[in-house]
Amino acid sequence: MADYAKFLEAGRRAVEDASLVCRQVQRALDQVKAITKDDKSPVTVADYASQAIVAHRLREALGPVVLVGEEGSAFLRDEDNQTYRDATLAAVREVWPEADERTLLDAIDAGAGDPSHASFWTLDPIDGTKGFLRGQQYAVALAYIERGRPVIGVLGCPNLPSSFTDPLDRADSHGCLYFTISGQGLWEVHADKQGAPPKHIHRALREPGDPIRACESVETAHSKQDDTAKILARVGSAGEPVRLDSQCKYAVVARGQADAYLRMPTKKDYVERIWDHAAGELVAHEGGCVVTDIHGRDLDFAHGRGLETNRGIVCAPPDVHGPILGAIKDLGLA
Ligand code: AMP
Ligand code: MG
Repeated sequence: MADYAKFLEAGRRAVEDASLVCRQVQRALDQVKAITKDDKSPVTVADYASQAIVAHRLREALGPVVLVGEEGSAFLRDEDNQTYRDATLAAVREVWPEADERTLLDAIDAGAGDPSHASFWTLDPIDGTKGFLRGQQYAVALAYIERGRPVIGVLGCPNLPSSFTDPLDRADSHGCLYFTISGQGLWEVHADKQGAPPKHIHRALREPGDPIRACESVETAHSKQDDTAKILARVGSAGEPVRLDSQCKYAVVARGQADAYLRMPTKKDYVERIWDHAAGELVAHEGGCVVTDIHGRDLDFAHGRGLETNRGIVCAPPDVHGPILGAIKDLGLA
């Protein structure tokens, strides 16, 4: 059996360092755009740097690993993209000073692991690209999967404030990092390695009949906001859902700041990616939530890079999850 404590330690270190580098790149957004003359380039640089650092840290601590990451190195290897390669190398060296071009590209490609293994890591180096570009919420999401289920989750949310009174659409100066081993509870620390020891997180029970505070994607292409509105009207909502990018939504429900995260399908054939949900699902579960698809099925991570047998997402504490699934069925949305 895997040494979960050792794996978690390695995963935490990896996500902490990747989060630091993402924050640095975000601070230098204008500079990166100027070098590459492209609004998308800061994401590109941070995406590759984040994946390289996570892969490097995991291999350093654990030896060879199976890592299924969202990115590959083909773009950076292209001769025309030397500027991006240089910018990514400079970003990585913040926490990995000995990196060179060869080790950088090799580390990125360590993410080309085969998800048909019985156990593997999966990584979204920057989840919520649009949020990253807007200077709002994004996440570095790493999970370890065993036989189709996440058993370790590390979710770096570099811009997420830990205080519920701070606005969610602005970048916090510390950010939050959540980590968990299945069955051992959920923990929160600052994402910038500063401050207090880990804090145990578990949702408080709701008062029966309290209105439901929901959250959903900012991007209308990722979740059908009209459907969410119809469902919330049925179950008794507290008003407009809070909109934020990335798996930070799972954390926001896990810590009790919202009562539901709904992801209603916008396209018939869209298959959710495993790295978009693995870490977030475990974070929410360990915080006291139920996570299923819109049919009430558990998420099944044993079908390659996609959640082939699932559609959409419903994440909520048990007393909210049931009524939401009921509303989805009654409205004919599943
Ligand atoms: P969010 O920040 O919650 O809107 O989710 C961002 C993620 O949405 C990205 O990582 C994409 O993988 C994913 N995505 C892209 N297209 C779609 C789609 N049509 N439906 C649902 N998710 C999508
Ligand atoms: Mg993503």
